[in-house]
Amino acid sequence: MKLNRFVFFLSLSFLFILSSCSTPATENQQAENTPKPAKNIIFMIGDGMSYAQIEGTENAIGKQLEMRKLPVSGTITTHSADKRITDSGAGGTALATGFKTNNGMIGMKADSTAVPSMLEIFAEEGKQTALVVSCGITHATPASFVAKDINRNNYEAIAKDFAESEKLNYFIGGARKHFIDREDKKNLLDEMTARGWQFFDALENAKFNASKNAALFMADEHPVAVKDGRSDYLAKGTAKLLETMSAQAEKGFFMMVEGSQIDWAGHANDSAYLVTEMIDFDNAVKAAIEFAKKDGETLVVVTADHETGGLTIINGVEKEYSTVRFNFSTGNHSAVTVPVFAYGPGSEYFTGMYDNTEVIKKILKASGK
Ligand code: MG
Ligand code: ZN
Repeated sequence: MKLNRFVFFLSLSFLFILSSCSTPATENQQAENTPKPAKNIIFMIGDGMSYAQIEGTENAIGKQLEMRKLPVSGTITTHSADKRITDSGAGGTALATGFKTNNGMIGMKADSTAVPSMLEIFAEEGKQTALVVSCGITHATPASFVAKDINRNNYEAIAKDFAESEKLNYFIGGARKHFIDREDKKNLLDEMTARGWQFFDALENAKFNASKNAALFMADEHPVAVKDGRSDYLAKGTAKLLETMSAQAEKGFFMMVEGSQIDWAGHANDSAYLVTEMIDFDNAVKAAIEFAKKDGETLVVVTADHETGGLTIINGVEKEYSTVRFNFSTGNHSAVTVPVFAYGPGSEYFTGMYDNTEVIKKILKASGK
């Protein structure tokens, strides 16, 4: 019996030595199995969107949203450097740069050191970049990708950061007034035009091409809500820019798309507002996924900066979606976790539960960095 065990142990040791000897072959195999890096990145933020916003919308419309059909999902914590409950400045900054900051700050650490966003990191590599949002372009979330300011409400300074950015190629959103109706009396759009930018005010007329940066202003301030007549430009503008950039960006592109007003619907505790903004954002997700499926080299990541409204879903009769009730517990943000959904090369990195500062690291890893 004892001898048998000894022989068994010996055989195991022999097997172990054998497998150690075969390490180089295993490494080669691993190199072959390493997924191709993502050439293009589409990063999508539902501002104020957590699980209840998704499930409530699905219950209200009686079908699944596109984002939940994505093959990989994870969960992130969202606290800021100084508060359990983040604002969109610190939340956007954590996602955009990988650094925690204090509520109210954008594009810099809590000690006010400016840090690069993933948009800027990818631009440095020669990728084209774009922002498409349903709020003013100077608002906290898009601003976190381009501007550096200790106060997210310094809209005119933030517009100046946009005007002077050498990393941004295209944007679609509101807030034209912060570029032209300014305390310093400057017309930033004139300055940008001199530097090769062109401007449009309707998606149909917008001509995006490789030789010029371009912005499409949908409003002087914030675009109106979908329920008040906003067009479906978030999805259509996303699709149009994807087409443009995929045709001309040899080194790929980075695009951030934000469903900005999901948050405002949460603040208003308005379920009809919430559902229509969720559908609008999900239509943009659909456009991104349709592109990524055809393209094959595009990573799509859908997440949120925080939850808004402290929403839970109560009541509801099976198959009678209209009986569902949206129960808001606050008019502000909450501290609960939010989802991450991913599709495409590197999407496997996004499973599990982690902090919002990890998202950029996973995206950079997926892109081969
Ligand atoms: Mg926002
Ligand atoms: Zn908010």
